[in-house]
Amino acid sequence: MRDITLSLDKCSLCPRGCGVDRTSGEKGFCGAGAKVRIARAALHQWEEPPISGTNGSGTVFFSGCNLRCCFCQNYEISSEGKGFELTVQELADTFLMLQEQGAHNINLVTAAPYVPQIIEALDIAGSRLTIPIVYNSGGYESVETLEMLRGRVDIFLPDLKYYSSELSAKYSGAADYFERASRALIKMHELVGCPEFDEKGIMKRGVIVRHLVLPNCRHDSAKVVGWLADNFAPYEILISLMSQYVPMYKAKDIKELSRRTSTFEYEHICKMIEECGFDGYFQQRSAAKESYVPEFFDNKYY
Ligand code: SF4
Repeated sequence: MRDITLSLDKCSLCPRGCGVDRTSGEKGFCGAGAKVRIARAALHQWEEPPISGTNGSGTVFFSGCNLRCCFCQNYEISSEGKGFELTVQELADTFLMLQEQGAHNINLVTAAPYVPQIIEALDIAGSRLTIPIVYNSGGYESVETLEMLRGRVDIFLPDLKYYSSELSAKYSGAADYFERASRALIKMHELVGCPEFDEKGIMKRGVIVRHLVLPNCRHDSAKVVGWLADNFAPYEILISLMSQYVPMYKAKDIKELSRRTSTFEYEHICKMIEECGFDGYFQQRSAAKESYVPEFFDNKYY
């Protein structure tokens, strides 16, 4: 069994590289401690069709985040620390419970601060866990930590939020976002390869890159798509273009982010993706509602 203290006692699991000793109670930028903390574990229907399938994705929402997106829909858990602690054994049991409930996969949301514990939980579950493992991320990842997931994660579901460091600094508190996220994305593709599906269309392997079109940012979105086209062949990745932006959390007070993304802005980027030959998913604009944020919990409720 791995010694997880090796990674937590001078934490550099993500690009923040805080160097704090989480085993002695110190906390870094993400707020994660030594124990796993989650806010929800349940079947989730609102991912892309080959991830949610008919039964749902077995989604585990981890507490804490290495970004501070001013428009975060999950700010209660990403910034405010809502959640409850689990032992590594309980995390393994949670994965198995979701599989038992019929989940098509285990979907680890914002898991970077807990990668060592997740690896240990996957080891405990061992061959009893037979469904794909999805790593669902804001994209701000360290390639060294991703390497730890080689052979353990089957599907990567990263965001690629910005090209501009000015925008990523202003809206997510990470000036080096694109530099880190673009390297991470290349690593993710190296780890799992091209998209593969089972006979029912459920995803088994591969990378889906998500991009949320923000209001007044379509030129930056165009640069993101241009970079993807320069670095991946259309068959190597899928793109999920999201339109569900609603001004929430701190974005309500930022003038240029205080409205919905327009149809013109969204369709401009859709067209560009199609012209580049990428396949993927376009979200119905009617999906842009606050009500899609799931309920999060302070205590273990299952
Ligand atoms: S995982 Fe958290 S504590 Fe560790 S480097 Fe990243 S932000 Fe800092």
